[in-house]
Amino acid sequence: MNIQQKLEKIKSTIPAQVTLVAVSKTKPISQLMDAYHAGQRIFGENKIQEMVEKQEQMPKDIHWHMIGHLQSNKVKYIAAFVSLIHGVDSLKLLKEINKQAKKHNRVINCLLQIKIASETSKFGMSVTEALALMQSELISELEHIKITGLMGMATFTDDTIQIEKEFKYLTTTYNKLKEIKAPNINLETISMGMSGDYLLAIKCGSTMVRVGSSIFGSRNL
Ligand SMILES: *Cc1c(COP(=O)(O)O)cnc(C)c1O
Repeated sequence: MNIQQKLEKIKSTIPAQVTLVAVSKTKPISQLMDAYHAGQRIFGENKIQEMVEKQEQMPKDIHWHMIGHLQSNKVKYIAAFVSLIHGVDSLKLLKEINKQAKKHNRVINCLLQIKIASETSKFGMSVTEALALMQSELISELEHIKITGLMGMATFTDDTIQIEKEFKYLTTTYNKLKEIKAPNINLETISMGMSGDYLLAIKCGSTMVRVGSSIFGSRNL
């Protein structure tokens, strides 16, 4: 199957209200353009420089999602164009995104990354930390960011029961935190699910899946 066929096959299995992010990290522009010509407009990258280079070379109606861990000092490189940052896990990072977005007179949408995996290596905040951040007085001063949802990554395992438990935990957390309303907080997105588990993620409440290898083939980097 070529990229267009793979993309169509995946789209036929996900409900219309679920957003598909095509994770194109490490893949050449020619392959991203195949997906673009098949109608895909949302692409996810996890490295700043790679995303900047691709954004410069590709059509301007693409929505670029930063899905990787973002260091504060690199926000400035993507602030002019990024449409959603998935992995926000500190107030410090949120403040920097706000500062850089302001320079471009933009509001940047952000998802708070919640730690749902049992592994220690995964980034993210605890529910308590996310709650504290969303309720802090400082948040309302950040007029150039908007918190629009949560993101999570399940443990890297074949244990479907474990993955399902983690996905359900993120949905439960979302339902709790969704009650918090502020001018710049309005949760409407649960970003969870990748190539191996996006159908399970959708079953557990995901509204946004991040699919890479099932579209573009495996990565060897
Ligand atoms: C690479 C990556 C994905 C996509 O993984 P696949 O298994 O190739 O679908 C999704 N989310 C994040 C955060 C990633 O880094």
